[in-house]
Parts: sequence; structure tokens; C-alpha cells
Amino acid sequence: MLISCPFCGEREVAEFEFRCTLEERGATAAERLYFRLADPRRSLEHWQHVRGCRMWLELHRDLRTGRVLRTASVPVPPADGTGS
Ligand SMILES: [Zn+2]
Repeated sequence: MLISCPFCGEREVAEFEFRCTLEERGATAAERLYFRLADPRRSLEHWQHVRGCRMWLELHRDLRTGRVLRTASVPVPPADGTGS
């Protein structure tokens, strides 16, 4: 699987580290409902380009194929309470 970093371009998934899905992060009920209604086959996830620019990314991923549909940088690490 390739992930397109907004700063480094397309890189192998091994360069990135999965952090959490939006739901795990503690999205509001309205956010969860919106994403389910928008397309229940998609997942919104947070990843970090740990072996590159270390930027935090928001990935929209197709759950059927695993393919990354869209990436965007996020300014701060998502607060998920894991402390990692
Ligand atoms: Zn990068």
C-alpha cells in the first residue's frame, strides 16, 4: 500500500505509523453519523510519517480495498489518550 504524504509524495506504508481512527479518537456522535452516512465503506484515520517528515496525516481509506483515497496534513497529533 502506498500513502501519499503532502510533503514527501508517495511512500510505502512501512514509513508510516497508524495512530487511530476518528471513532477511536473520540469523535462526536454527529461526526460519526456524518462519516457513516457519507460512506460506511470508508474509514477516516490518523497516521504519522515516522520515517519521513514526521507530519501527522488524516487518511480517508476504502475499507473494501484498503486503498488510500485522500490524505491531508493535520497540524497537531490527535489526542486519543494513549500517550504513545
Ligand atoms: Zn512526509
